[in-house]
Amino acid sequence: MKDIERIYRDLGISAEVYAYGEAAVARLCDRFAAIDEVAEYNQQKVLSAMQKNRVSATHFAATTGYGYNDAGRDALEAVYADTFHTEAALVRPQITCGTHALTVALSANLLPGDVLLSPVGAPYDTLEEVIGIRPSPCSLSEYGVSYRQVDLLPDGSIDYEGVAAALTKEVALVTIQRSKGYATRPTLSVAEIGKLIAFIKERHPTCKVMVDNCYGEFVDVIEPSDVGADMTVGSLIKNPGGGLAPIGGYIVGTRECVERCAYRLSAPGLGQEVGANLGLLTSLFQGFFLAPTVVAAALKGAIFAANLYEPLGFPVIPNATEPRHDIIQAVSLGSAEGMIAFCEGIQGAAPVDSYVTPIPWAMPGYDSEVIMAAGAFIQGSSIELSADGPIRPPYAVYFQGGLTFYNAKLGVLLSLQKLCDRGLVTLPKL
Ligand SMILES: *Cc1c(COP(=O)(O)O)cnc(C)c1O
Repeated sequence: MKDIERIYRDLGISAEVYAYGEAAVARLCDRFAAIDEVAEYNQQKVLSAMQKNRVSATHFAATTGYGYNDAGRDALEAVYADTFHTEAALVRPQITCGTHALTVALSANLLPGDVLLSPVGAPYDTLEEVIGIRPSPCSLSEYGVSYRQVDLLPDGSIDYEGVAAALTKEVALVTIQRSKGYATRPTLSVAEIGKLIAFIKERHPTCKVMVDNCYGEFVDVIEPSDVGADMTVGSLIKNPGGGLAPIGGYIVGTRECVERCAYRLSAPGLGQEVGANLGLLTSLFQGFFLAPTVVAAALKGAIFAANLYEPLGFPVIPNATEPRHDIIQAVSLGSAEGMIAFCEGIQGAAPVDSYVTPIPWAMPGYDSEVIMAAGAFIQGSSIELSADGPIRPPYAVYFQGGLTFYNAKLGVLLSLQKLCDRGLVTLPKL
């Protein structure tokens, strides 16, 4: 037995599951090579931004209190702006999560009487309360901002006629979510987002466009900011934090929009001038530096999962062969037992808390129990190997992350092993 087979056996992977996995890996050479090419481009893009801004060891020094004249913080923001090709960037540990970053971007750039339009259907769950689709204290709705939505067509494409009709002069901001999140619609490519932005700006030139870029950063060589978005927004405990950022969010875009965001985040008159870095800048710089290759690892893990499960008859979104625009992989396991087995496998492959058994649990905001697997260095980080889903038909788990492909590979193999062990699937004879 080869050393590599022995180490997998010691980790609980049978010879059959290992061989089935290797056959999938062998089919994926070309796709993995294409992912590496994107990662190489993005690595040089980030490096070039770091060099241009003369990042130096002094930029990693901690600041406290008001954080006036924080050269490291300002350099990090310049690096983000240059990477995303924008005039300005707000990248802060004081932005607590992706929802917070999106909330700052929306509330800073919408005024009473304005209309917010989503031309790609319902936004991410947490934004329902931010917007006031589900009534909530301090929602945009309470401040006199109303909301309009144009759903995607049944085939998942954009309803351009509907968008044209909804785009009246009261629409001050359009919000476009790149990733499908936990919906079953397709994720939008940056090119499609660009086409939609051009369509909007042609009809309504003063209308601002914000893109929720969560889970999309570095999957492609261009970003929404390259195709006309006024603001591109995301979380640092997803792709751009590279697994190292312990907290934070970013907003990149036009100077006008980003300045307003800074005034909303801190206070009118203070803006970007305050906000101590609390010693987190090494992680934020280094995480951003590693992000292109970490995203590549996560993408390979997602494609590996699709190529393991689809041939076994489990519906997967995206499917085994289609192009990727984010790092999320949905796998429909068809039963609660299947979801539990899958999540146990992901948990068992983690570097942290691998001995823990995930169990379905009632969660606020959900009408069914939810199961979650995550053994992460950063709590809640979903650029690290993780899986979750509500226990209800079609019994789909959403799988994402993996700081290295080998960690994601072990997770996917162990999930399949658990399904095999419980008789929930039979592998074909190779
Ligand atoms: C994760 C996510 C968010 C919210 O981010 P949090 O950090 O969980 O608050 C918003 N939109 C999309 C598409 C996401 O994937």
